[in-house]
Amino acid sequence: MITQQTIQQITNRIDIVEIIGEFVKLKKRGVNYLGNCPFHNEKSPSFTVSPAKEIYKCFGCGKSGNAIGFIMEHEKYSYAEALKWIAARYNIEIEETETSPEVKQQQQLAESLFILNAFAQKHLSDNLTKTEEGKSVALTYLKHRGFREEIIEKFQLGYNLEAKDDLTRALLQNQFNIDYAQKAGLVVSRNDMVMDNYRGRIIFPIHNQSGKIIGFGARLIKSNDKAPKYINTPENDIYVKSKILYGTYFARQAINKYDECLLVEGYTDVISLHQAGIENVVASGGTSLTVEQLRLIRKHTNNLTIIYDGDGAGVKAALRGLDLALEEGLNVKLVLIPDNEDPDSYVKKIGAASFREFIEANKKDFILFQLEVMLKDAGNETAKRSAVVNHIAETLSKFNKAEDFTKQQDYIRQCASILKIDEGGLTTLVNKYKREKITKEENRQTKEPSPVQEIPDNNIESTDATSLLADDEFQERDLLRVLLEYGLLQWDEERTMAEYIFEELDHYHIENTELDNLLAVYKDYYYKGLRPSSKTLLYHDDAGIRKLAINLSVQKYELSPNWDSKMEGMNINNRDISRQDVLMSLNYFKLRKIKKMFDENQRDIEKANTFEEQLDLIKIHKVLKDEEQKITGLLGTVIFK
Ligand SMILES: [Zn+2]
Repeated sequence: MITQQTIQQITNRIDIVEIIGEFVKLKKRGVNYLGNCPFHNEKSPSFTVSPAKEIYKCFGCGKSGNAIGFIMEHEKYSYAEALKWIAARYNIEIEETETSPEVKQQQQLAESLFILNAFAQKHLSDNLTKTEEGKSVALTYLKHRGFREEIIEKFQLGYNLEAKDDLTRALLQNQFNIDYAQKAGLVVSRNDMVMDNYRGRIIFPIHNQSGKIIGFGARLIKSNDKAPKYINTPENDIYVKSKILYGTYFARQAINKYDECLLVEGYTDVISLHQAGIENVVASGGTSLTVEQLRLIRKHTNNLTIIYDGDGAGVKAALRGLDLALEEGLNVKLVLIPDNEDPDSYVKKIGAASFREFIEANKKDFILFQLEVMLKDAGNETAKRSAVVNHIAETLSKFNKAEDFTKQQDYIRQCASILKIDEGGLTTLVNKYKREKITKEENRQTKEPSPVQEIPDNNIESTDATSLLADDEFQERDLLRVLLEYGLLQWDEERTMAEYIFEELDHYHIENTELDNLLAVYKDYYYKGLRPSSKTLLYHDDAGIRKLAINLSVQKYELSPNWDSKMEGMNINNRDISRQDVLMSLNYFKLRKIKKMFDENQRDIEKANTFEEQLDLIKIHKVLKDEEQKITGLLGTVIFK
């Protein structure tokens, strides 16, 4: 964890134009800077950087954020990594906080699991090569499958004896904690009896980047209908399936050397290819790839070649989720192994040299391959063909790095020609998908209910309330916007705008929990004398607050160059603009709230049981009506002043 002081130092030092300028060529336009968006492909610039607000916003695709967010997005960094990048840029020394007791405990647990796994691996490897059962059952089997001794040793393969508790006893004798052994998946507890989990199975240790064993794959030797062929370590503190690619530890140097990573399905595919001298290979375990796995590959190379069996399921699994690889900027190629073969059997059949040649000769471009498969499925049906166009446009919209845009344009050209459609039209469609995706992301980031928000009861009343709630949101957001923007200016001789707004808000309630939370944070800062503004809140610890602060200050007209000149033309001084903005926002907010109370009151009147009750409610009705009229009047004078 980076200390608060360091973060403060970093955020004080940030010059957003300088930072974004490292990646985007920016030109000054009025008070803002303009450039070609690095997140979508465009010919005329709509990517705007506001040094005053310390934010960027693209009016083409809708992406927006602060300098830290830009680095996170552009370089695919975490928050901490982005801070470190900026710190290095400005020669700021990073101070990190001491690890908390919880983190320490976690590290200790992880360390224990590593030690346990290392012990188990040694024991299970000895079982394979030094016991009668291991030699006659497992080793014979592996040799029969064509694995030589040195490769078995290199991958540290092992064997778990058939006996119920061979490994369990060894662990106990060496004083290992059995609860941890269970967490590591080495033993299981059945009817209060602890026993070995991988009985009668060949063991494939799974290594992390530095060669430590994080888990195991265990394959049954004798076919057995009751048990699955493979079982794996359950998810634990060190074994996180979505972050693992089998074989990365052994493959990393070869991947660097060949600048290519081959991806296969199974453990034995990896080992066979290694044995044949093809070492730049890892396995996914047959599921679609995750972002973490793709990033693991991208650390070493941008070129990913997927080798799959000819059967349909393998191809479909390979295609699924590969759009993610494009987003990560990887060049993806596909190679199909002939029917009834897998990489393991095929390399044994034709030998290493021919296998390499086969891969080189049969590489298909992922995008064009996908298009080919879909077009074949669609045949001559117009509806299906237009679905293909949409699908391919969506795929092509996944390119999101400026250096990939030439590639994207090439693909658009090729796909348009294959589809026999207009290239310009396809470009427009691609950009439409890009915009939609970003809008969706931005909405999700701001609208995601915070964990403290109560889940409404599942009845009609509350559904009604939820929709009403959503209706208020626009006014609530706008009120927070003016608060962030003008709060520190003077309202009159005695009060700041913020104090005026707080007073006026006294009888009203912000219903959106996130906005209400932001108001609370603002008040807290304000009364502590921390002079809150959209700028200070841009760097708040809480990602939700940050995002909200950014979103509130990127309303289109504020950044658009036309707005300033329009205001200049109207010849109003700044104080008038801010007062007017605050008044209008506040009054529209109140009007909206009053309208809501009005509706609620109306419903109560209809439901009232006694005449007295009804009379009281009618009085309220009158008060609300008066208030509404007063505000409408005020708004009139403000608007037409
Ligand atoms: Zn853009």
